[in-house]
Amino acid sequence: MEKPVPRPAEENIRPRSLEEFVGQDDLRANLRVFIDAARDRDRPLDHTLFYGNPGLGKTTLAQIMASELGVNLVCTSGPVLERSGDLAAILTSLAPRDILFVDEIHRMPVQVEEVLYPALEDFKLDLVIGQGPAARTVKLDLEPFTLAGATTRLGLISSPMRDRFGILAKLEYYNPVDLSRIIKRSARILGIDIADDGAMEIGRRARGTPRIANRLLRRVRDFAQVNGRESIGAAEASQALAKLDVDEQGLDQMDRKILEVIIRHYNGGPVGIKTLAAACAEETRTIEDIYEPFLIQRGFLKRTPRGRMATGLAYKHLGLYLT
Ligand code: ADP
Repeated sequence: MEKPVPRPAEENIRPRSLEEFVGQDDLRANLRVFIDAARDRDRPLDHTLFYGNPGLGKTTLAQIMASELGVNLVCTSGPVLERSGDLAAILTSLAPRDILFVDEIHRMPVQVEEVLYPALEDFKLDLVIGQGPAARTVKLDLEPFTLAGATTRLGLISSPMRDRFGILAKLEYYNPVDLSRIIKRSARILGIDIADDGAMEIGRRARGTPRIANRLLRRVRDFAQVNGRESIGAAEASQALAKLDVDEQGLDQMDRKILEVIIRHYNGGPVGIKTLAAACAEETRTIEDIYEPFLIQRGFLKRTPRGRMATGLAYKHLGLYLT
């Protein structure tokens, strides 16, 4: 599952400064200190690893770091860097203090990772040229830079890699109040008239995720427009969300399918993730990265050594009964 290329509409509403970035208060306060300190010392920021579920603001924070420091943000992703030469080409093109953003850094091949280590430690690149007995190593000096890695799975990052990050930045799910602030900010930029209770209704049902909140806002706007409503209140938001199959708890069709499959086909579990993914006709990684963390956080699903299990709350939510 590749991340979709951001559409221009998404770019317009992306916060540009730490002040515009809503929520994640502790992390934001810390980043403020690290950015200001690096700027005062005229040094690159320490290498930073952002981790958290998709759509919580990892790319946005990396962009904010670059713009606050007045440097370039060069973007790539783990799976795109197939050979060490791909990485070398990018590293040698960086200007002093630039930020290299590597999304899905846990999917970077091991041989590429090994080229990265000396670059991270002392801004040097060891390139092997040629093969067999004729092979020789060339050392190149790099400009001092910052690596900003992003991952949805901290556990899949090798420990030598993890140890090289000076700043570990964890992004949490957002609470409904922060999400409603994000929705109101986006609505202002997009020229959508939304009342406080309308923003709150979407915020409550957006899976704790700004990207989903912004997407639901646009869809709710479509319904309001077609129904001739000037402003979006709680009732309009609620009706539209029901049409979009987003329930009271913010669960969508696939969330409910996952829980139903565990309950109906596997008697509540435990069931292995691969079996579950096949039964839901969804990719294992998508279930692990997108659906499962939210279902676990909300108490609908449990991860056990023998597989996934539906909780009593899941039975209750779906109106099913434990047998
Ligand atoms: P990630 O890289 O973690 O997948 P992004 O940084 O691309 O997520 O964020 C997804 C979208 O959500 C962005 O377009 C941005 O507009 C919005 N967003 C994320 N975090 C915030 C925030 N804290 N405040 C306002 N908008 C946010």
